[in-house]
Amino acid sequence: MADSSVAQQDSLEAKSPYELRVGRGANVPETDVRSALASGDMGFLHSFTTGSAVDGPGIRVVAWTAGCMWRCLYCHNPDTWTMTNGTPVTIARATAELSKYRQGLKVMSGGFTLSGGEPLMQHRFAAKLFAAAKGMGVHTALDTNGYYGDRLTDSELDNVDLVLLDLKGADPERHRRLTGMDVGPTHAFARRLADRRQPIWVRFVLVPGLTDDPDDIARIAAFAASLGTVQRVDVLPFHQLGRFKWKALDKPYALENTQPPAPDLIERTCNTFRAAGLVAY
Ligand code: SF4
Repeated sequence: MADSSVAQQDSLEAKSPYELRVGRGANVPETDVRSALASGDMGFLHSFTTGSAVDGPGIRVVAWTAGCMWRCLYCHNPDTWTMTNGTPVTIARATAELSKYRQGLKVMSGGFTLSGGEPLMQHRFAAKLFAAAKGMGVHTALDTNGYYGDRLTDSELDNVDLVLLDLKGADPERHRRLTGMDVGPTHAFARRLADRRQPIWVRFVLVPGLTDDPDDIARIAAFAASLGTVQRVDVLPFHQLGRFKWKALDKPYALENTQPPAPDLIERTCNTFRAAGLVAY
């Protein structure tokens, strides 16, 4: 498949994933999109960002994929829901982009993180990119909601050093209201990672009035602790940096008036995870 002229023109680098990016792959024929998904020879990326200190150990280069089937009420990057909002990028171009940073990442004990959107919407592309990163000797992390974890084979998972797993809720009904999707596949993927003794960092977004139910947080904590391979839990305070995207995309935003959590709620939430025997920040 030939690289798109759009891919050649569009810069992949962004200051942050909060840049609104739409329609960058809209001119890619549907047949090419299907072929790209099947082969992994091309993916759709929102952007590459550098210098992240929060998406895995050390300093990270992060590739943000486009495409997500979930509809989290608090999503701060709804432009990444649509795959063709992303820039079409050949695996060769994505690998070359990552290669620019390989030495620096090793020096800084950092690595490469694939995030989104949901990276496993493009699981063939993700698998090829992780294989390329491992071939460079770069530490790899997958930031995922886990729903499509079964799309990766065990040998493909061998190329993932760390999984940043989003646990958004424990109660099935609450989870469905929050994300539009079932929690079961995420839990199944988490257990598979645990069986493989694969390191996990849990990410939990704390939203006042939405994800702050103490019983639900305690259930998430108990589940995470039961896995035995969760190295840390990051409690991520809700913020409004993505609100402008909902407006720009003309999507109804349920959290228009929701405030970030107060420090004492963040501390209480961290303590719930700590009480389950986990390291939480
Ligand atoms: S899984 Fe992530 S990208 Fe997808 S809707 Fe939820 S927050 Fe947004």
